[in-house]
Amino acid sequence: MNFDLSPEQKEIQRAADEFAKGEFDKEVALELDRNHRYPFDILKKACNLGFIGIHYPEEYGGQGYGILENALIVESFCRRDSGIGVCLSIANFSSEVILRFGNETQKKRYLIPITKGEAISAGAFTEPDHGSDITSLQTTAVEDEKGYVINGVKTLISNGRIADFVIVLCQTNPEASPQYRGQSTFIVDKGSEGFEVTELGDKMGIRMTSTTEMSFDQVRIREENVVGSLNKGFYQVLEFFDESRVMVAAQGLGIAQGAFDRAMDYAKKRSQFGQKLVDFQVTQHKLADMATQIEAARGLVYKAGWNFDQGRIEPKWTSMAKMFAGRVAVEVAQEAIQILGGYGYMAEYEVERFYRDARITEIYEGTREIQKNAIASAVIGKKG
Ligand SMILES: Cc1cc2nc3c(=O)[nH]c(=O)nc-3n(C[C@H](O)[C@H](O)[C@H](O)COP(=O)(O)OP(=O)(O)OC[C@H]3O[C@@H](n4cnc5c(N)ncnc54)[C@H](O)[C@@H]3O)c2cc1C
Repeated sequence: MNFDLSPEQKEIQRAADEFAKGEFDKEVALELDRNHRYPFDILKKACNLGFIGIHYPEEYGGQGYGILENALIVESFCRRDSGIGVCLSIANFSSEVILRFGNETQKKRYLIPITKGEAISAGAFTEPDHGSDITSLQTTAVEDEKGYVINGVKTLISNGRIADFVIVLCQTNPEASPQYRGQSTFIVDKGSEGFEVTELGDKMGIRMTSTTEMSFDQVRIREENVVGSLNKGFYQVLEFFDESRVMVAAQGLGIAQGAFDRAMDYAKKRSQFGQKLVDFQVTQHKLADMATQIEAARGLVYKAGWNFDQGRIEPKWTSMAKMFAGRVAVEVAQEAIQILGGYGYMAEYEVERFYRDARITEIYEGTREIQKNAIASAVIGKKG
C-alpha cells in the first residue's frame, strides 16, 4: 500500500498551486464576488496552461489524466480562492456526459473549445418541482420528423448566462415505468430559438457564478444533439454524478484547507493578553481538530477519485467523499472565522467568503441527506 501521490501528480499539484498563487489576486476576488462577475481572464489563462479538461483524452484537447489529477487541481485552486476556484472547476460542468456517452463528432465539437477557453458548459437536471428527485421530469422532448422538440423549465442552473451549450435531461418517454427509464440527454446550443435564460439573482455564496432558470419553449433539437442512447439519460447522469461529486468534494477540501491556512497565519500574528493566539491551548486544539478533519477528507476525496480512475464506479465512495468533505469545509471555515474573531466576519479577511462558498458543497449535485441515503443503501444493502 502506498499513500503517496506519484511524482507526476505532485508536479500537477505544484503547477496548479503556482498558477493560482500568481493569478488569483485577493482584491480582484473580493471585487468579483461583490459584483457577481465571472473570472473570464483567469479561466482563459488556466485553459492555456491545460488545467481545464486535463481528464479528457488528448484527441479532445485534454491530457489524458484521470479524475484524481483533476481533483488535485480543483483542490489547489479552491485553496487559494474559494470563489475563483469553484468558477474554474465548474467551467466545464456536465461536459463529462459528452465525454463518456457522446459520439466522436460531439466530443470534437464540444470538448475541444472548452479546453481552449472558447466555450463554457452547463448541465440542467433540476426543475422547479424536481430537485433531489429527478426520477421523473416535467421537461419533455418529443420526437417528430425533424428531430426533437423540448418544452419545460429547469432551475438553479450554474453557468446559465455564460454557457455556450447545456446538457439537458428530458423525459422522452412519459409512459416508461419507472419514469426514469424514459429519460434522455440532449445538447442545447446557446441562442437556440425558444431557449431563454434568466438570472435568479442574489445568493449566499459562489457569487461569481451565474445561477439561472432555463425555459424551453418548442426548442427544436436535431437528432445529432441526442447524447448516447435514447432513454438512458438518467443512468448517464447518475454515472456523471459519480465523477462530478468527487469534484465537489475536492472543492470542499480546497476551501477547508484555504480557510485553515488563513486561520493559522492569523493565529501566529495576532496577540491578545500578551501572547500570540496560537499560544493559547484552545487555539491549538481548534487548529489540531481542523487539520485532522481536513486530512480525513483528503483521504476520502483521493480514494474516491482513484477508485473512479481504476474503473470502480462505486457511488458509496463518491457520496462519502462529497458528504464528508462538504461538512468539513463548512465546519473548518466556520472555526476559521472564530479564530479571526471580529476580523473573521469582515470580507477583507476572506474567511467569511470561504464559509459562504463552502455551504454550496453540501447542496448541489445531491444534498448531504441524499449522499447519506446513497451511503446507507450501499452499506445496508437496501434501497435508500
Ligand atoms: C448555487 C446553486 C447551483 C446549482 N447548480 C445546478 C446545476 O448546475 N444544475 C442542476 O441541475 N442543478 C443545480 N443546482 C440545484 C441543486 O442540485 C439542487 O438544489 C439540489 O439537488 C436539491 O434540490 P432542491 O433544491 O429542489 O431541494 P429538495 O429536493 O426540495 O430538498 C429540500 C430538502 O429536503 C431534503 N430531502 C429531499 N429528499 C430527501 C430524501 N429522500 N431523504 C432525506 N432528505 C431529503 C434535502 O436534502 C433538502 O434538505 C444548483 C443549486 C444551487 C443552490
